Amino acid sequence: MKQALPAIDEHQDIRDAVRQLCAGFDSTYWQSVDEQRGYPQAFVEALTKAGWLAALIPQAYGGSGLNLTQASVIMEEINLSGGNAGACHGQMYNMGTVLRHGSDKQKQTYLPRIASGEWRLQSMAVTEPGTGSDTTRLKTTAVKRGDRYVVNGQKVWISRVQHSDFMILLARTTPLAKVTRKSQGLSVFIVDVKQALEKGMVLKPIRNMPNHETNEVFFDELEIPEENLIGAEGEGFSYILDGLNAERALIAAECIGDAYWFITKARDYANTREVFGRPIGKNQGIQFPMADSYMETEAANLMRYEACRRFDAHLPCGAQANMAKYLAAKASWEAANMCLQTHGGFGFASEYDVERKFRETRLYQVAPVSTNLIYAYMAEHVLGLPKSY
Ligand SMILES: Cc1cc2nc3c(=O)[nH]c(=O)nc-3n(C[C@H](O)[C@H](O)[C@H](O)COP(=O)(O)OP(=O)(O)OC[C@H]3O[C@@H](n4cnc5c(N)ncnc54)[C@H](O)[C@@H]3O)c2cc1C
Repeated sequence: MKQALPAIDEHQDIRDAVRQLCAGFDSTYWQSVDEQRGYPQAFVEALTKAGWLAALIPQAYGGSGLNLTQASVIMEEINLSGGNAGACHGQMYNMGTVLRHGSDKQKQTYLPRIASGEWRLQSMAVTEPGTGSDTTRLKTTAVKRGDRYVVNGQKVWISRVQHSDFMILLARTTPLAKVTRKSQGLSVFIVDVKQALEKGMVLKPIRNMPNHETNEVFFDELEIPEENLIGAEGEGFSYILDGLNAERALIAAECIGDAYWFITKARDYANTREVFGRPIGKNQGIQFPMADSYMETEAANLMRYEACRRFDAHLPCGAQANMAKYLAAKASWEAANMCLQTHGGFGFASEYDVERKFRETRLYQVAPVSTNLIYAYMAEHVLGLPKSY
């Protein structure tokens, strides 16, 4: 069988180890999680225990201190195995807000426990129903009262809260009318989920297309101790932006894993399925979309590695991270469509996994940033066109 998977590279040791772990969670496992609309608890526990989700935490705090390129290979391999890293990728990058902007005390408190897996920080609450992509207009407020902040408002699409001990929250601490720029006056907090659920925070799960654990979150006089403010009050939006490049590069890698999975699955099916007395793969109508998908994926993968390389070298990488996320999400979605078409009717049967992976990979053209917002970023920040919104 000819090679369709990513070529052997310098990360083969990471690939082999993650691949071996993922082999314990086969298609039956993921189908059953999907069917029950459950959470892949056993998989996430195994991944945590093996230390893979602590990849980006420095060794000084008990993590493995890998770089973003290496971390992205972990995410890619999960999706390439037929699994879904979206169930746990937040644990890998959400801690970056604490690492980059937290006090020494916060770092000492949270990072070793996140690294060991004792605590999960899988969730980040930014999006709101009334404001959507216009993040800086968000309406959730955190008002200082004595030694606490009191939070009121609502978030939507907040993922993995039910499987997190802590959640990063972005809320407005200075009213919009009192700041000169919309991006000012927003602050970041770390919220103890269990405590919050006992008083002031309510979750309402959202049933959704890819079986993603995601929720509406309501805050009614939720009190957060002032020591849970991360960094300086009012500077939170820039802290969230700081984390986006890593998030985009990691999700790009997941999409690359998906794309290779779809291509391999389609290739294998096309070689074995016989119609009109010959394999369907003999038809150019089947071959060409597959060849197209493969080239698109390989090209997107180069941009993913370039984004990671620049991030790891501490070079500006906003454009590359956005391009990687855009190109990889497009490649994986087109590969998904091609794979489903190649399978004909069988593509719709759950036991082939194609329709599940198809639903899962579709998400990445909308979250964590929608395609149009990437176009707008490129137009303004790379091409120098006027801001369009
Ligand atoms: C399953 C899932 C999980 C998620 N998890 C999280 C999470 O954990 N935390 C979190 O904070 N958020 C999360 N999100 C939210 C996600 O980041 C948003 O859905 C996304 O950023 C788009 O925002 P919106 O849904 O409000 O769309 P809107 O902002 O309402 O946009 C709707 C459409 O209009 C387009 N549009 C809007 N403005 C413009 C413009 N100026 N120019 C051109 N087109 C425009 C958008 O591109 C989009 O196609 C999740 C979403 C989903 C579906």
